[in-house]
Amino acid sequence: MMHVKFLDGQVKQLLIDGRHVPARSGRCFDSINPANGKLLAQVAQGAAEDIDLAVQAARRAFEGAWSTFNPYDRQMALLRLADLVDAHADELGALDTLDMGGPVAYAASRRQRAVAMLRYYAGQATTVHGQTIDNSQPGDIFTYTVKEPLGVVGAIIPWNGPLFMAIWKIAPALAAGCTVVLKPAEQAPLSSLRLGELCLEAGIPPGVVNVVPGFGAAGAALAEHPDVDKITFTGSTEVGQKIIRASAGNIKRVTVELGGKSPNIVFADADLDAAVPGAAMAIFANSGQVCSAGSRLFVERPIYDEFVEKVAAFANRLRVGDPMDPATQMGPVVSHEQLERVVGYLGVGREQGARLAAGGARISEGALAAGYFVRPTVFADVRDDMRIAREEIFGPVVAALPFDDIEDVVRRGNATTFGLGSGIWTRSIGNAHRVAKGLKAGSVWVNCYQQMDPAMPFGGYKMSGYGREGGAAHVEEFMNTKAVWIKTA
Ligand code: NAD
Repeated sequence: MMHVKFLDGQVKQLLIDGRHVPARSGRCFDSINPANGKLLAQVAQGAAEDIDLAVQAARRAFEGAWSTFNPYDRQMALLRLADLVDAHADELGALDTLDMGGPVAYAASRRQRAVAMLRYYAGQATTVHGQTIDNSQPGDIFTYTVKEPLGVVGAIIPWNGPLFMAIWKIAPALAAGCTVVLKPAEQAPLSSLRLGELCLEAGIPPGVVNVVPGFGAAGAALAEHPDVDKITFTGSTEVGQKIIRASAGNIKRVTVELGGKSPNIVFADADLDAAVPGAAMAIFANSGQVCSAGSRLFVERPIYDEFVEKVAAFANRLRVGDPMDPATQMGPVVSHEQLERVVGYLGVGREQGARLAAGGARISEGALAAGYFVRPTVFADVRDDMRIAREEIFGPVVAALPFDDIEDVVRRGNATTFGLGSGIWTRSIGNAHRVAKGLKAGSVWVNCYQQMDPAMPFGGYKMSGYGREGGAAHVEEFMNTKAVWIKTA
C-alpha cells in the first residue's frame, strides 16, 4: 500500500480553533478501507459539545481575525490554499481513495476539479459587490446595497466525493467572508481533516475553518445550533428534511443538495459508439455513488435490446478492483452497510421480475472478497413501478426501460420525486431541445453526462433540494443584502 504520511497510526483529532483536540467525550471511531475492510485510522468522534466549541471558535474568528481580511486578502488566502491542494494532491487523493474507494485512475481529474474550484471562488471574493440603485422617491435620497457575509456556516457533507465536497462548501463561504464548521461524513473524514490543516498553512486564521468529524448526532447539533447562521448540506433527502426542520429554531439559512434518480435517455438516432460508454459510466462511475448518476436508462424501443446488450457487455468488461491500482475503473462501495443496501436492491429487482443482463451480485471470491465490491449490474425489462426504478440505490446498478416517443419519455422521466441530473443522447437538435425543456431537473447533459464546471450552477428540482452550488450566484447564498437609504438634501 502507498505510504501516506497523514496515516501515521495516531488518532486523528478534531480541528477546532486551529488546534488538534480530542473529542470531549474521549471517544473515537474507526475509518475503514472499503477495498479490504481494514482499519485506516481512528478518528476522534465529535458530538454536540465539540460542535458547540467549534461554533464558538468560528464566531470569534468571524468577528475577529477573519473580519480584518479584505476581499483581496481572502482571494489571496484561497489562491494559496489552491496551490497547497495542488501540491498535496497525491496525498489528498490517496486519502479519499483509501477512505471511500474512488479509483486513483481518476485522481488527475479530481485534482484539476478541486484546484480549479478554489481558484474560481478566490476570484469571486473580489468580484461580489452591492449596487447603487436609482429610486423614485421624492427628495434626494441616495440608495445602494451592501453585501455582507452571513456569519458562521455549518457544512455537512456525504462521503462520495469527500475532498471535492469539502471544497465546494468551504471555498464560497470563505470568499463571502464567512467562517465554517465542517462536519465530514463518518465514512470518509480524513481528507477534510488534512484540508483543514492546509487552510492553516495557507494563512487562513485559526477558527475560520473548523473540522469536526462525527456521526449524524454531530450533524444534528450543528443544524440545531442557535449561533449558526447557515447550513449548507449535501446528502440524503431524509436527512435534508431533518435539517430544514432544525433550521426553524433560529431561522437559519439552508441550502440542500439531496438525492436523485436521474433519467438518462437514449434515442434511436444517437451515436451509439458514444452513448454506450456514456450511459454505462453515467451509472458505474464512482461505483454508482453519485447523486446525479444516470440510474434510469430509458432507451427508444427499436434499439432497446441491442443497446442494453451493449451496455451489459461494457459492464462485464469494466475493470473492477483495488482502487489504488491505476488500471482499476471501478472500486468498491463505501462501507459494509452500503454493500448490504445495494445487494438488497439486487434481490428486490429480481423478485419484482426484472431481468439481469449483467452483474447482480457482490464479488465474494478471490482477492476482492474482503472488500465491499459489487459487480456492475444492468437490469433489463424494468417497469416504472418497480422499486429499482423509483428508489435511489446509490450503487452500480442501472434500470433499463424502453420508451416509445418524446411525450412518453418526458412524462416518465419526470415521474419521480427527485429532479437532479438528466441525460439525452440524440443526433436531433429538435429532440435535444424538446426534452431539455420538458425535464424537471437541475442539470441536463446532451450527448455527454456528469459534466461539471465551477462556473455552472448545480442543484435540484423537487425533493433533490434547493439552492445552487457553482456559478456566480453561489457566493451570494453566503451573504446578506443590506439596503441603505441616505437622504442627501
Ligand atoms: P446522509 O444524508 O446519510 O449523510 C450525509 C451527512 O449528513 C453525513 O455527514 C451524516 O453524518 C450527516 N447526518 C446524518 N444524520 C444527520 C442529522 N440528523 N442531522 C444532520 N446531519 C446528519 O447521506 P449519505 O448516505 O452520506 O450520502 C448519500 C446521499 O447523499 C445520497 O442520497 C446522495 O444522492 C446524496 N448526495 C447528493 C449530492 C447532491 O449534490 N445533490 C451529492 C452527493 C450525494
